[in-house]
Amino acid sequence: MNDPAAVVDCLIVGGGPAGLTAALYLKRFRRSVLLVDGGESRAAWIPESHNIPFFSSGISGKQILAREREHAARYDVVAETARVTAIAKSDGGFVATIESPDGAVRDVSARRVVLATGAVDVEPDLPDVPDAVRRGLVRYCPICDGYEAIGKRVAVIARGDHGVGEAIFIRRTYSDDVTLLTLGEELDLQPDQAEDLREKGVTIVEDPIVALDHKGDAIGALRTAQQELRFDILYSALGLRYRSELGLALGARHDERNALWVDEHCQTSVKGLYAIGDVVIGLDQIVVGMGQAAYAATHIHNRCEYPTDDE
Ligand SMILES: Cc1cc2nc3c(=O)[nH]c(=O)nc-3n(C[C@H](O)[C@H](O)[C@H](O)COP(=O)(O)OP(=O)(O)OC[C@H]3O[C@@H](n4cnc5c(N)ncnc54)[C@H](O)[C@@H]3O)c2cc1C
Repeated sequence: MNDPAAVVDCLIVGGGPAGLTAALYLKRFRRSVLLVDGGESRAAWIPESHNIPFFSSGISGKQILAREREHAARYDVVAETARVTAIAKSDGGFVATIESPDGAVRDVSARRVVLATGAVDVEPDLPDVPDAVRRGLVRYCPICDGYEAIGKRVAVIARGDHGVGEAIFIRRTYSDDVTLLTLGEELDLQPDQAEDLREKGVTIVEDPIVALDHKGDAIGALRTAQQELRFDILYSALGLRYRSELGLALGARHDERNALWVDEHCQTSVKGLYAIGDVVIGLDQIVVGMGQAAYAATHIHNRCEYPTDDE
């Protein structure tokens, strides 16, 4: 979109798997689309995924993004590298402020907006290995790759309900040998939950990790003051920070972790504002984000010339 006065049918914020799919659908519906992307997709950190249909031999996150970009480019969708810093409601839609890497700032009007802004992993605080998830030393998602952990010695860095759920999921599905590491923090559970974990055969280690051996792409051993621990696979289950600020500023409904609520069309509680992918409450998976993109794009196409339900 080169004419600054033009109103696009849809602004898509975020060019990961969800945003790129929404752009593809909308362009095939012959809609005008502006796709703005900050270039920090979680998908880029996937070493090799084996749960994406059609790619039975596995595919890396970078390849997924490259293929989706190439597909969208056939319909003239090119993600603009920039950040959307604010969105305000206006007559008939929204006005978004876009900041380019060179510092230039401009406003863009759009009838509808899709937030596909994703989420960021909370990294574990391990000695001497910052960014352990991003460097592939620690895995993040047993739903994605737990199958590859069958029968192995697994550790889960976690605390609280989410971590317990993940440790039990791995114990009952993939491995008899599961240890929950709190890295010296409180386990933050009711006594009966901790008992439940032990009954299900999950070992709990609450001591801080004081040192670890790490070579190449593996952590060989973790040491507490009392013992040395060895695992084949280490997961972090410390959760996500949702990049939902643009939606929250517009008053969109959200849960206690700031993930956005959406209806069956992936519309948020702010009419005309849609959300798809990891930023939405629910299962953080590529196929889910793509499915949500299809719902949102179709609803937008069917309605975007008309006033929103609240106008
Ligand atoms: C190590 C690892 C392994 C994984 N393995 C799998 C797997 O095997 N299978 C699977 O299904 N899932 C897997 N996932 C999860 C998967 O990566 C995510 O579910 C997926 O990337 C979510 O897509 P998305 O489009 O919602 O968000 P993202 O891919 O995170 O993309 C969001 C984009 O929005 C941009 N953005 C954010 N805010 C703004 C803004 N204000 N302005 C402009 N741009 C903005 C970001 O820069 C980013 O590029 C894995 C994740 C990790 C970390």
